[in-house]
Amino acid sequence: MDAIRVTNLKKSFKVGKESVEVLKNISFTVEKGEFVSIMGPSGGGKSTLLYLLGGLDKPTSGSVEINGKDLSKVKEKEMSKLRRNKIGFVFQFYNLVPNLSVEDNIMLPLILDGKKLKDYKGKLDEILDIIGMKAKRKMTPRELSGGQQQRVAIARALIFEPEIIFLDEPIGNLDSKTGAEIMELFRKINKEYGKTLVQVTHSEKSAEYGTSIIRLLDGQIVSKEVLEQEEEAI
Ligand code: ADP
Ligand code: MG
Repeated sequence: MDAIRVTNLKKSFKVGKESVEVLKNISFTVEKGEFVSIMGPSGGGKSTLLYLLGGLDKPTSGSVEINGKDLSKVKEKEMSKLRRNKIGFVFQFYNLVPNLSVEDNIMLPLILDGKKLKDYKGKLDEILDIIGMKAKRKMTPRELSGGQQQRVAIARALIFEPEIIFLDEPIGNLDSKTGAEIMELFRKINKEYGKTLVQVTHSEKSAEYGTSIIRLLDGQIVSKEVLEQEEEAI
């Protein structure tokens, strides 16, 4: 089964009296375990598309299926559950809570969902290990660099063990060296932990970390290419 199936997706916004069609007729699929980069120019509708895929906004027409489920047919209560348990989001500007510690930021989705934190102690340690932030677990975001803050945001997206993680310009706010480290972390999350990743980006360099690239231009997909994977040294 496809992780994501998008069919004839359209999205328009009303601007004054005019209706502007941002996504014109988009169809594609993402297989489980893929790491797809959706590339396109600024203002080209990438974030709009990502929000539709993650159920944060509704299409004007067409459909998005996640694991075979048509999002337009999912009731609001089930949708919130789906968004919590199956889908993670990472944004350009981390969106951490400034006065909470690293570990409290990571556990915030659990707190909001009424989960018992002690059931997740092992999970938290494991995730802190993956993102390499064990030693900084008691610090607050203002004591961290941008790259470290993004690692915390990634950990927060992982805490419910989502199957799919959506990334909106995840290194757009970072210098190139830190950005490369964060992209390596996403690659590891894709390859070693089997998560399906979909990132939108305007940067060719970060797009190349994925397993395939979809190019979006003028609200339409112009190509999907599968990238050659480097052979792993044994
Ligand atoms: P990208 O992420 O590729 O830079 P966006 O998806 O953010 O592009 O925006 C695409 C276009 O849609 C832009 O022209 C933007 O102004 C417009 N747009 C996005 N969201 C809204 C909205 N909620 N209301 C009106 N216009 C919007
Ligand atoms: Mg955007």
